[in-house]
Amino acid sequence: MPLLEDTVGVEDLVLLEPLEEKSLLENLQLRYENKEIYTYIGNVIISVNPYQQLPIYGPEFIAKYQNYTFYELKPHIYALANMAYQSLRDQDRDQCIVITGESGSGKTEASKLVMSYVAAVCGKGEQVNLVKEQLLQSNPVLEAFGNAKTIRNNNSSRFGKYMDIEFDFKGAPLGGVITNYLLEKSRVVKQLQGERNFHIFYQLLAGADAQLLKALKLEQDISCYTYLNPEVSRIGGMDDASNFRAVQRAMTVIGFSEEEIRQVLEVTALVLKLGNVEMTDEFQANGIPASGIRNGKGIQEIGEMVGLNSEELERALCSRTMETAKEKVVTVLNVIQAQYARDALAKNIYNRLFNWIVNRINESIKVGTGEKKKVMGVLDIYGFEILEDNSFEQFVINYCNEKLQQVFIELTLKEEQEEYKREGIAWTKVDYFDNGIICNLIEHNQRGILAMLDEECLRPGVVSDSTFLAKLNQLFSKHSHYESKVTQNAQRQYDHTMGLSCFRICHYAGKVTYNVAGFIDKNNDLLFRDLSQVMWKARHPLLHSLFPEGNPKEASLKRPPTAGAQFKSSVAILMKNLYSKNPNYIRCIKPNENQQRGQFSSELVVVQTRYLGLLENVRVRRAGYAFRQGYKPFLERYRLLSPCTWPYWNGGDREGVEKVLGELSISSEELAYGKTKLFIKSPKTLFYLEEKRHLRL
Ligand code: ADP
Ligand code: MG
Repeated sequence: MPLLEDTVGVEDLVLLEPLEEKSLLENLQLRYENKEIYTYIGNVIISVNPYQQLPIYGPEFIAKYQNYTFYELKPHIYALANMAYQSLRDQDRDQCIVITGESGSGKTEASKLVMSYVAAVCGKGEQVNLVKEQLLQSNPVLEAFGNAKTIRNNNSSRFGKYMDIEFDFKGAPLGGVITNYLLEKSRVVKQLQGERNFHIFYQLLAGADAQLLKALKLEQDISCYTYLNPEVSRIGGMDDASNFRAVQRAMTVIGFSEEEIRQVLEVTALVLKLGNVEMTDEFQANGIPASGIRNGKGIQEIGEMVGLNSEELERALCSRTMETAKEKVVTVLNVIQAQYARDALAKNIYNRLFNWIVNRINESIKVGTGEKKKVMGVLDIYGFEILEDNSFEQFVINYCNEKLQQVFIELTLKEEQEEYKREGIAWTKVDYFDNGIICNLIEHNQRGILAMLDEECLRPGVVSDSTFLAKLNQLFSKHSHYESKVTQNAQRQYDHTMGLSCFRICHYAGKVTYNVAGFIDKNNDLLFRDLSQVMWKARHPLLHSLFPEGNPKEASLKRPPTAGAQFKSSVAILMKNLYSKNPNYIRCIKPNENQQRGQFSSELVVVQTRYLGLLENVRVRRAGYAFRQGYKPFLERYRLLSPCTWPYWNGGDREGVEKVLGELSISSEELAYGKTKLFIKSPKTLFYLEEKRHLRL
């Protein structure tokens, strides 16, 4: 029951009266201040990050939630995990758990709670336990290589993650598949003030013993490395050295061999050492600027460690071969270009290493294709982002969120509709904002922004970010969700906040202004072929395997898909996957910017409730009937209101409910009797019943 006596505010926002932004916020705040961090909207959970360990987790609570149905206990992630798992096991419905929210709102912690709940309740036995261990241990490994300290979150995931956990027909885990999205690889070479590089670099330096450091030719001191921000070497409460050991153990549990772990660490060390390769200005005989490498020692060490010719590497870093079908032309790079090439290489190596690790984990946990499986997908992905300066990364992240919103609305409505159908109740259509028009603006195959970007990237001749923008301006000048300086001027709107190199999209969650600078480059995501060829030649098996396109026999002049096209197709696969499953939602909210317990900033939260579309969610959810409950529990709770059913009642549950409600003056429009459940239209009616009940108690 959502209305227990000791409830703080309402536990289900569907029952909120009056329903408006202000009351919604006040309710969340009231609950948060009473350490009630979870609140429902029907079967959606809102989770407000407590920034403290609350005594509501662990085996005792897992046991409790395992034995009750969804509304019987306080809102909790365990209740959602339990409902999803039981429905998967007993009704054979594949599930997905979609966790969204902004950075630091608690998504990853929520996903771990779901995983640990499911691991605790599903199946027993040695083999099963090994599978569970492997699934759980994938977290510390992926966090080491994919998480970093940012200003917003000391342990921020810098990649999106979707994990399918697969079960046999009895509900015991068999294994899983992890898909990763868009690692923030720019972090490898540069971090904002107050932020760190990926955890693994610090873990390695702090945790490796003298022998390992020597083998990797590393210095322990963080300040020796250009790619590591010396200003934040440590994070309070995080022990890099012991985490390093935990990561190695986790890799072993998953099934990485000692040799594989060593190679992974060598490639990690290589990235650090590459950052220290210093470029100098040089001039060719004809006076044209060129570049060289200042301190040959570093590059020599790299060569020795991964078995490649350091002179070839030097050449590949400082020059570029242009290949056409007919000829090869070598151009020298100036110092800026050479630095750019070095950083591009480092980012590329690290990104590919990360993908390799994900694949390697999948190899260990994957399940044979023959078996019939039940699947629970868990999606932990960056929420809607509006930064001061929004670029290509924000653009694709927000596109993904636009798609998720579309799935959310469609599935929520569909689920409602199906329940009404099952219960034999008439369905009335709900009006809602359909964001299909925005999705189309971005993803349309021929006329979407992504397609325009690809077209511009592939077009021969001089292309630049500004020719791309010009194209958009021309194409979308009349689009209701597109704006730019040009379209504004045409409409005589004068907006000083809009830069000349920007375009703006009116997303479902609000307007976002994107700066086109870098779009072409980031979408192209090309590594000079000289570099991939040198990497491919490395005798180091892992490094070699990361650059298959460096094989001269494989080298074709056809270019690989752009970053945007890749992202779009992985989003399409994800959506298809989600649509095929029964959805469960966890909406995470960050209550303050300071990672502080007990602080609730309404200004900050209101923005997030808008991005998450919570009000719309409540509206859709109660467009038909706000409240529904099975006849039996309903009768149990309210039968004391009628002398016909209290203290004795021998009839059926539904008849009992009809008796109770028949005696109260409730308009018949307020109620609908379904096959197994009673539906009540407005929360007021429920409150009225509750009040009556209190008077009788
Ligand atoms: P996100 O993945 O959304 O960026 P995280 O899940 O990493 O956010 O959470 C950020 C931090 O907030 C965690 O490192 C932890 O300190 C704290 N946190 C999040 N959820 C909880 C929770 N349920 N209980 C206690 N602390 C939490
Ligand atoms: Mg995270």
